[in-house]
Amino acid sequence: MVFNRRPHVVAFALVMALITGACGSATTDDNTNSTSEQASAETDTTEAADTDPDADPDTDADTDPETDQPAEEAAAEPESSVATNPVDVGLFFDGAVVGDVTTEECTLSGGATTTCYRITVAGDPVTYETGPFCPTSITDSADEGGIWFDGDGVYDLDGAFIAGLAELYDDENWMMFDEDGNVLVTETAEEFDLAARPDVDPSLQNHCVEGRLEWLENGEPVTTTVVIPVEPVLADASATTRGNLGVTLDGIVIAQSAPVDAILAAYTIAAFDDCGGHYNPVDGYHLHGAVGCSELESDIDGETPQFAYAMDGFPVHSPLDDADSADLDECGGHEHEELGYHYHANSAEQNLVITCLVGQTVADAADAAGGRPDGPPGGDEEG
Ligand SMILES: [Zn+2]
Ligand SMILES: [Zn+2]
Repeated sequence: MVFNRRPHVVAFALVMALITGACGSATTDDNTNSTSEQASAETDTTEAADTDPDADPDTDADTDPETDQPAEEAAAEPESSVATNPVDVGLFFDGAVVGDVTTEECTLSGGATTTCYRITVAGDPVTYETGPFCPTSITDSADEGGIWFDGDGVYDLDGAFIAGLAELYDDENWMMFDEDGNVLVTETAEEFDLAARPDVDPSLQNHCVEGRLEWLENGEPVTTTVVIPVEPVLADASATTRGNLGVTLDGIVIAQSAPVDAILAAYTIAAFDDCGGHYNPVDGYHLHGAVGCSELESDIDGETPQFAYAMDGFPVHSPLDDADSADLDECGGHEHEELGYHYHANSAEQNLVITCLVGQTVADAADAAGGRPDGPPGGDEEG
């Protein structure tokens, strides 16, 4: 696969990270060194806040976070409105939702009381088979492995990638294959558990880490229940979230960034499949990068298809080929005559599907939404 670099957007994400970090928020920890299948066990899963209360809109950007209009045009518009379409639960693929979708009164992060959907997603994609993840030999082709992305690029996980790790990351300690050219891959549930945790067992350094459905508890997908507003309500300011970012229409959660620094520090690769997802022992299969899987059919000029809903109820569409010229707001969203406001996912290389949310999320969504988006097996509250 060929992916275009988008340095502008990467730079912006960095700025956002610096800003939120400077505000003393714990949010950026999720993206850098805290939560993860491989990072620290001190995750913040018990906190209810699903949005970042410290985010300061005044320092975020020079565009109005509440609209996709340029600031000078936005002045003439009521700030609290943006064209929205209600969440359409009929868009979920057959089998993606477990049980009935119910409605309930809910209080949003900005204080609004509204109606929400309670949706339980199945936890394994219904539109494709997961994997492959790791190649088995350094001669394997790209077909025999998935992908890896690290914030700088997207790489085919073929044999040559494994063989070239020391050069790519400029560190001679990388040696993820034996003298016969066999790639060292997690081969049992026990190895998976020992590798997908903050203190990677030394015996599993220099392993390509992959999980399997059959290694999850009871060999079952991990379902996740989310509560999202039926009608999205704009927040006063956009905000990052420490929980899951959304759910795909084929039944999996969109997780926070994979903790690439921690993963690489342990000389591991937490392989993704070609759809940008992978397993961890706690959350099961989850998405880290949007590469065009599980899309609805769509033929709107200049648009990409929807594949998910964000936690604030706005639709998430696949990345735009030319996002730089699309006048997207800082969360990657814009308004469209027919579609209303919607996000475009970041390119997979950014290792963050949605940069921030413009809408209010359910105030106590953390437990409902799976408070540990990408967490290591530390506590046992989920299992
Ligand atoms: Zn669009
Ligand atoms: Zn993950």
